[in-house]
Amino acid sequence: MNYTFDTICATATPLSTGGIGVIRVSGENSIEIVQKIFNKKIVPKIINHGWILNNGKKIDEVIVLPFVAPHSYTGENVAEIQTHGSPVVINEILNLILENGARLAQRGEFTKRAFLNHKIDLSQAEAVLDLINAKTTKSAQGAANNLSGALKIKIEEIKTQISDILGRIIASLDFPEDVAEVSYDEIIEKIENSIKNIEEILKNARIHNILRQGVKIAVAGRPNAGKSSLFNALLNIDRAIVTEIEGTTRDTITETLDLNGISATLIDTAGIRNESADKVEKIGIEQSKSAIEQADVVLCLYDGQVGINDKDREIFELAKNKKHLIVCTKCDLCPSISQNGEISISSVTKEGIEELKNALYKEIIGLNPTENEFLTNQRHQNCLKLSLEALNNALEGANQQELQDLISIDLKAALTNLGEISGEVITDNILNNIFENFCIGK
Ligand code: GDP
Repeated sequence: MNYTFDTICATATPLSTGGIGVIRVSGENSIEIVQKIFNKKIVPKIINHGWILNNGKKIDEVIVLPFVAPHSYTGENVAEIQTHGSPVVINEILNLILENGARLAQRGEFTKRAFLNHKIDLSQAEAVLDLINAKTTKSAQGAANNLSGALKIKIEEIKTQISDILGRIIASLDFPEDVAEVSYDEIIEKIENSIKNIEEILKNARIHNILRQGVKIAVAGRPNAGKSSLFNALLNIDRAIVTEIEGTTRDTITETLDLNGISATLIDTAGIRNESADKVEKIGIEQSKSAIEQADVVLCLYDGQVGINDKDREIFELAKNKKHLIVCTKCDLCPSISQNGEISISSVTKEGIEELKNALYKEIIGLNPTENEFLTNQRHQNCLKLSLEALNNALEGANQQELQDLISIDLKAALTNLGEISGEVITDNILNNIFENFCIGK
């Protein structure tokens, strides 16, 4: 792969009015270029305060932070200019920098350079994107852990186990007189260990996917069961229209809720018009059906004052193949109704709402958040699965005492797949796909 490292620039803050704006310039000539438009001599390693000038005309009073390679985010010479947060000023300064020889950066190009200049590995570069896009504290935490190298270290550990045994197999094959053959028992033990480590990471992939992508929760139940009221109580806002008349006009409503760190989209199965009682029930079921289909978890509500009847059961039946919780509503009006360990709530007094949130969290995640503190994305998971496949082949070979030469082929494949996670083995296509999702200026 050949890359040119010309000097690039972009605004690192959103191009809108704010307290300050940050323009980032990276590349060999970055400091030189900024010097041409700055009214004082730029001194490395200190904060430089002065004016940006355009042909002697004062544009803005700024701070210039020069970072000399390799001690910068990208590993190149970098000049960061902190301007006042006016889009007009930021644009004018950017234009000046372009006129003086830089070009506009592409999406994610600063982070891509940090990767290409070995400041970070690929899993850390992806963590930068995850951190920027994190919707909840929990996913931000996972991304921050990866940024600090948690996944990288774990993968390195597994790679070392595999390379160690592979190295010794190759040495014994190349120098049979000097190096003793590695015992099959030892090969099996090392491979099994690596398999266990990879499986552990993959086991938690579902949880990581939930943290990364969020989860959809349908609030289902008959008209008047208390869906909209619960929807509001969970969100703590007065959003959906609540009415005592069954089947009043409403549209299906979705809102996002931070459920103990998980980004949860709530779907209210409203949207029922003034129809005959039978029709209202029918539409209620249809609405529930479509919401339940979209959802990962379903809250099946029934009115505690009425109890569970056949119509409720018909709706609950729709959710039987999904994760679901049965919820008895309006418990302020019927305190002792709850049976069989289902959750009783009141959207009016808020009784049971916290318990419901905790039960939902447990239902979604399965258990408490894992000790594994790194997130894996689809790309990592694919690499891990391929590596696992190769290791299982190697294990089968070792169990059958196959020629060690053949076992080594599978071990090499396992290593190559793991190498893709850190970006050690990577194609241009994969690289472009990853950085395409970044914003300009990152
Ligand atoms: P939906 O048709 O299932 O969305 O039901 P709504 O949320 O519109 O509620 C129907 C009626 O029950 C409204 O009059 C609400 O004020 C009332 N309601 C809902 N939840 C509670 C509750 O927890 N306690 C009491 N006392 N009334 C409730």
